[in-house]
Amino acid sequence: MTTEGTPSLSQYTVGYVGTEPVGEALQTLPIDVCTDEVRLALCAAIAGWRMQPSITLYCASPSRWMDPAIANLVSYILAYPPTVGHLDIKINAIYDPSAPRRHVTQRSVVLSSGGIDSTAALLEALDQGSDVLAHWVDYGHRYAAAELAAVQKITATIGVPLERSRVDLGREIAAGEQRYAHIVPARNVLLAAIAAARTSADHVVVTGLADEAKVPDKSPRFYAEGSRLIGATVSSPFADMNKTDVLVRWRRRWADVLHPAITVTCYEASGRCGRCRACAKRAVAFAAAGWGDDPGFRTDPFTDPAGIIADDWLPRWHTFGPSRRADLLLAFRYAHDRLPARVAEFAEKAWRAEAAVLEQRVRSLEPQT
Ligand SMILES: [Zn+2]
Repeated sequence: MTTEGTPSLSQYTVGYVGTEPVGEALQTLPIDVCTDEVRLALCAAIAGWRMQPSITLYCASPSRWMDPAIANLVSYILAYPPTVGHLDIKINAIYDPSAPRRHVTQRSVVLSSGGIDSTAALLEALDQGSDVLAHWVDYGHRYAAAELAAVQKITATIGVPLERSRVDLGREIAAGEQRYAHIVPARNVLLAAIAAARTSADHVVVTGLADEAKVPDKSPRFYAEGSRLIGATVSSPFADMNKTDVLVRWRRRWADVLHPAITVTCYEASGRCGRCRACAKRAVAFAAAGWGDDPGFRTDPFTDPAGIIADDWLPRWHTFGPSRRADLLLAFRYAHDRLPARVAEFAEKAWRAEAAVLEQRVRSLEPQT
């Protein structure tokens, strides 16, 4: 155990009640959530935003956190995109909070963002007969209100209890966004740690898809080792699927329970801008999976208002895997008359060039009888 004196301002301390950012963020959480796991996760998130190579963890049970594998895992999670590198986690036992009160009895908790993937994960858990709880965290993100409205509507419709937590990272997000756009370092570690601390769940569902496996806290390594950081096992039911696959599964199994248009997937406060990358991906997945258009968009993503398709996706076309290329081509076919001319022209050539890939994908997406 490293014993530290008064922490210097260059260190981001957890459990330190003062005027610096982590102390303020910590104080926005209910006391029963302030477990060692949450304090470490909060420090990791802030270290990521600040590119800070050192964390001081003030914790109740220091010996548990001396395992070098924990520092190694946090360093791995922060290596994309913040490249903090190898974190030096100092352990200090001077902070000794009262034991957390665990007051919810569900065995499984799904981190819910109101999006397609986490909503499908709730439906999947219900199908499997799990005693499941939805947990939503307001971390000061600008689309929080739209997310909450969707999560409330979804959980009320399917009869799943919803618990909410809040940790105010608005100041960190504002600083970090200039550097990382919409990527929030260690976000899933933090949200999962909060959800685990808030409940008695043995298991936290952090929904990650196959094409998100390069995101460290949705990676195979995170699912294998994440329990070290969050105090519960962590998994994703859709780790081998992409968004189109999830929406096809939804069409086969839950179409009469809930329409996926109830979900939100947008980086803007409006919830369905139609112009951002998340909206463009959502529109493609809806069309490729046979759901047609999401009626809620304020601007039609297929008109490519921000040039995401033409200026970003088409130049990178050959870096995409076959499923993603096929899903884009299926969506382009669906929305052909609305595409900008140069995207439509590209699509016509690609349908011929990639006929085999397309045919194989269509077969794999056909509803099973
Ligand atoms: Zn959007």
